Amino acid sequence: MPKRTPMIAGNWKMNLGITESCDLINAIGEGIKGIDNVDVLVAPPFINIPIVGKAIGDYNIMLSGQNMHYEKSGAFTGEVSGDMLVESGCTHVILGHSERRSLFFETNEMVNKKVEAASDAGLIPIVCIGETIEEREAGKTFDIVREQLEGSLKVFSGKGDIPFSTILAYEPVWAIGTGLTATPEQAQEVHQVIRHWLKDEFSQESADKIRVLYGGSVKPDNASDLMSMPDIDGALVGGASLKAGSFLGIIKY
Ligand code: PEP
Repeated sequence: MPKRTPMIAGNWKMNLGITESCDLINAIGEGIKGIDNVDVLVAPPFINIPIVGKAIGDYNIMLSGQNMHYEKSGAFTGEVSGDMLVESGCTHVILGHSERRSLFFETNEMVNKKVEAASDAGLIPIVCIGETIEEREAGKTFDIVREQLEGSLKVFSGKGDIPFSTILAYEPVWAIGTGLTATPEQAQEVHQVIRHWLKDEFSQESADKIRVLYGGSVKPDNASDLMSMPDIDGALVGGASLKAGSFLGIIKY
């Protein structure tokens, strides 16, 4: 089985001004010098992407959008296209984050259109999926996750394979920003379902190569137990990515 390089991705959400962002990048960049076995990525708010890109300079940090529109251009007030993200220096884009799904009513269908547009623009999508606490308590976790995968990645189905660079992020909604974390076993169980789905829907090679990150209150003190699970290939981090100490603590799990 090919070795998957772990990724630690920081989703800054609607946080950090210009100075704080640049200071954080400097601290992360200096802190990861000499580390070459983990991919590090940050996703700042749209407006700060170019300045953060500049601050990244030669540091080994990847740049991502937190969202994008599926159209290339036009009358979509407040939106940003994939081409604009690329032009601003992004290589990745987070799509279908649970906050986008719950607060901005994004459906699997919309996420699927965004995945297609991101790929057309040359961006690597980081596609988020995960169940609510009600869905988990009703025993529907696996069904919901499969349904989200199917709906959000429809663009690739029937086309042979999914691009191996695609990244998936399992983020149980009940664990995001709540301080509640899935246990390593709970997370591993879902990651395994995701990997089986990739094999059944696409191929064994997809299942072996695609990275599946875990997200939901990842902190330096729980990162290493989560990362020790065979199907967890890194973390999508919200709150703990806003401070160099905690983000570096997770990167150095
Ligand atoms: C997230 O927003 O993707 C996330 C996982 O947030 P937190 O780490 O704060 O739970």
